[in-house]
Amino acid sequence: MRTDRTFTMLKPDSVEKGNIGPILEKITSAGFRIAAMKLTQMTTADAQAFYAVHKERPFFGELVEYMTRGPIVAAVLEKDNAVEDFRTLIGATNPAEAAEGTIRKLYAASIGENAVHGSDSDENAEIESQFHFAGREIF
Ligand code: GDP
Ligand code: MG
Repeated sequence: MRTDRTFTMLKPDSVEKGNIGPILEKITSAGFRIAAMKLTQMTTADAQAFYAVHKERPFFGELVEYMTRGPIVAAVLEKDNAVEDFRTLIGATNPAEAAEGTIRKLYAASIGENAVHGSDSDENAEIESQFHFAGREIF
């Protein structure tokens, strides 16, 4: 398993608000190389599977509705220490608690609609990348 890659989604709110460009600029300016990228839309079954770890949480239904309501940008990003550095770049799950200058502080509306996803471990980065991309689509 590679340890220098992470997986991200620019969530439906980011696409709806026209924030794809500004967010990608933040990501590449922070030193991440785009190894894979596409505009796609998750089905209900996709979102339920992707977020299965949260299936008992009270917000699960709301999360699945949100993540399936429109297209997302899915991407694999490469950089030394990618997983940890990307979590720092996006900021806390709740934008009200996110550090100044982070992507969620700048572009997220609420804890539910929080603009971006970032993998939380090297293992999940690999699983999530394979969920969205075939091996030949990752460069
Ligand atoms: P993340 O790793 O920072 O994305 O946060 P989690 O893994 O804890 O949660 C996954 C996603 O579920 C978050 O990014 C939010 O979109 C959503 N979420 C988390 N907590 C809440 C909550 O309390 N309410 C709602 N509506 N959504 C939440
Ligand atoms: Mg998480």
